[in-house]
Amino acid sequence: MTSVPDRARVRLTGISSRAYEHPADRSALVALRKLSGFDVLLSKLFGLINERALRLTFLAGAVKVSERQCPHIYALVRDGSYILDLPDVPEVYVMQSPLVNAMAIGRDRPFIVVTTGLVNLHDEEELRWVIGHELGHILSGHAVYRTMLLILIGLAARIAWMPIGYIGLRAIIWGLEEWFRKSELSCDRAGLLAGQEVDAARRALMKLAGGPHLSELNPDAFREQAHEYDAVPDLRDSVLKLLQLQGNTHPFAVVRFADLDHWPTHGDYHRILGGDYPPRRTDGDAARRDAGCARPSAPARPSCAPWWNRRSP
Ligand SMILES: [Zn+2]
Repeated sequence: MTSVPDRARVRLTGISSRAYEHPADRSALVALRKLSGFDVLLSKLFGLINERALRLTFLAGAVKVSERQCPHIYALVRDGSYILDLPDVPEVYVMQSPLVNAMAIGRDRPFIVVTTGLVNLHDEEELRWVIGHELGHILSGHAVYRTMLLILIGLAARIAWMPIGYIGLRAIIWGLEEWFRKSELSCDRAGLLAGQEVDAARRALMKLAGGPHLSELNPDAFREQAHEYDAVPDLRDSVLKLLQLQGNTHPFAVVRFADLDHWPTHGDYHRILGGDYPPRRTDGDAARRDAGCARPSAPARPSCAPWWNRRSP
């Protein structure tokens, strides 16, 4: 399944999402919360999320991953949950679609959805990074915002004819999309912490930009392309701003590659793997993402720890 023994990865016990939070993510959320009406809308939408109905949609139309169903994906989720020290292993659904996509949605018990397009595109280690990215969204409390964004986009389509209120709603959707793109940078780092394979993360992002034919793709050339892009900070800023107008939920793959390429060599990656990271128990005020969306105690789900402890050394 993988050439790297799972136990060779460092477990990041009690790690706080602050360890991998990108500064752009943090500042975008601060800006979002300053938008007029955002907090009120947030609390109202929170009550509207019918997580059971959401889950039923995927129970009805997708494959639920387990030890017996897509076991190689289940193993990646279980490994990642253990490495990032999630309280439990989230549910994962594989959905038939040629689109390459993955998301973490839900409120009290967020779950992960991956498309067959994504699974087919990536090898085992690349998928480990992708799953780790989604686990990062869950650990950071992003899933509830993502779900709200989906609801808001549906609402905006329905009241587009109504000028009053629609403009404010669009502003909040734009703000949420802008923040969501920045949060991708944080969770790319979370994926790297979960998989601990820098090359696999790079390959995955290169494939997202250039497709599946790895033999035709050159990581060094892509890195040079990313460095070329990254070397022009004004351009980078303006492209990120341009993206704000496009309704995209993800930044360009090359932006993500440039950022992820930078982090292991110039950022905190190795320090975190060495055990130097903020612990969850000291989150305090930093747990702002959970504001208004505190997670009530959820029904027991399979914990990763007993499985891990059962494994032979
Ligand atoms: Zn993401």
